[in-house]
Amino acid sequence: MAMSNIGRPTQPQAGGATSAHTSLTGARGLLQDEALIFEMGGWDKSGVDFDLPSQDASDLGDLVRTAPIGLPGLSEPEAMRHFVRLSQKNHAIDLALYPLGSCTMKHNPRLNEKMARLAGFGDLHPMSPQSTTQGALELMDRLAHWLKTLTGMPAVALSPKAGAHGELCGLLAIKAAHEAKGQAHRRTVLVPTSAHGTNPATAAFVGYDVAEIAQTADGRVDLADLEAKLSPDVAAIMVTNPNTCGLFERDIIEIARLTHAAGAYFYCDGANFNAIVGKVRPGDLGVDAMHINLHKTFSTPHGGGGPGAGPVVLSEALAPYAPTPWVVSAGEGFKLVEEAEDEAADTFGRMVAFHGQMGMFVRAYAYMLSHGTDGLRQVAEDAVLNANYIKAKLSPVMSPAFPDGPCMHEALFDDSWLEGTGVTTLDFAKAMIDEGFHPMTMYFPLVVHGAMLIEPTETESKQELDRFCNALTLLAEAAKAGDVERFTGAPYLAPLRRLDETLAARKPRLTWRPEPTTVAPAPMAAE
Ligand SMILES: *Cc1c(COP(=O)(O)O)cnc(C)c1O
Repeated sequence: MAMSNIGRPTQPQAGGATSAHTSLTGARGLLQDEALIFEMGGWDKSGVDFDLPSQDASDLGDLVRTAPIGLPGLSEPEAMRHFVRLSQKNHAIDLALYPLGSCTMKHNPRLNEKMARLAGFGDLHPMSPQSTTQGALELMDRLAHWLKTLTGMPAVALSPKAGAHGELCGLLAIKAAHEAKGQAHRRTVLVPTSAHGTNPATAAFVGYDVAEIAQTADGRVDLADLEAKLSPDVAAIMVTNPNTCGLFERDIIEIARLTHAAGAYFYCDGANFNAIVGKVRPGDLGVDAMHINLHKTFSTPHGGGGPGAGPVVLSEALAPYAPTPWVVSAGEGFKLVEEAEDEAADTFGRMVAFHGQMGMFVRAYAYMLSHGTDGLRQVAEDAVLNANYIKAKLSPVMSPAFPDGPCMHEALFDDSWLEGTGVTTLDFAKAMIDEGFHPMTMYFPLVVHGAMLIEPTETESKQELDRFCNALTLLAEAAKAGDVERFTGAPYLAPLRRLDETLAARKPRLTWRPEPTTVAPAPMAAE
């Protein structure tokens, strides 16, 4: 029985150079081994004590449940401890540097959390009358203002709920614009080989054919290849800048010019906006649509910590097709434009039931205000400085994928330095877990062999960067010195050892089923 194929160790962990001592229970120091919630507690236990309803009060007739509900029963302290113990088995940005390249795992300032919990924001219901939510609407309007100002774009759709959702929003606006111009025959979206997987996936989801643009030896879009592929069939290009090799596309103006000359739109993947915020306005580069991950550039929590938010800025040409709703200031106050009429007559529709991730809007706006203009510019400068510090510190022991010149916000290494050691990128990343660090992004971008993409973000101090670089340097030296077992068996010290991630991803078992021998009330949770 297991929650997924990967299971959890039931034996004290043995083997490996670093785990000479094992406990009798599978616990490690103060970290107890943890059962699944279905294996704990009693089926008839409850953390709350309600009065029994009177028998004749039910209106449900023969729909009244007769079998037990099948949820595990825990007292409040048991439930609390279960989830706190689980949380201790996971990595978090509050524990250590989280170097996932492209993901921008930066500190989530506590001030933002405090603001998001103010009753006027935290207790709102999306269907509250607009006359009672004027402050929230004003905050959305101000956030929109600053996103437009920072990007130099005339319009923004706040509602998309992630970067990939923002890509969908941008491409739907592009599709609507082409249809309005009688250009619906355009079927192709061009995507560089280094692109994030969401770019081609989004284009395909909207129904476009995807064609790849080649990359130059120095990690940038191959202009000649782009020019050759720009045809009357192309609806849009999707380019990330800075790109996923951590490099600024120097020919971005020319890319935009060629694209527009071919009658196509320029979608920019703005997930890496944190590298240029306050320094460069994408609108000035000729971008027509770009998503901004509030959960990256603007520090709102992500991963397990909170929902994403991917507002999309739009050029003059695409603005009429923006999804509803949006906020306008109407005389004395603010109101939401929700219907496809008047100023919103050309909208391509709605992307979400309500207005987007309000809690994230509050956090992102608090982040902007607490930094100010000069602070936001420094965010980009420090993010780039930190990445270059890592690139410089690790270059003596690891091989940078593009050694010439500085990088932007992330440092990219290939695996040529591991050649002949018997250690792979995956092994190296797993050994980082034993040293207390989450691995960097591995094997992405695909154009770099055995890629290791490290993004420190601006929120790390020099001390933290040194601690991280020292750990990686020690590991690199161990790999080169032939200490292969340290890597191939890693992680030794994590709550779980090396997992079959492919099996877990391809055939996830998402439903708990009792062991045949387990006595539990039927029926269990439905499949
Ligand atoms: C993170 C990221 C995305 C996707 O954003 P989500 O919010 O995870 O959907 C797209 N492109 C790039 C380059 C990214 O780094």
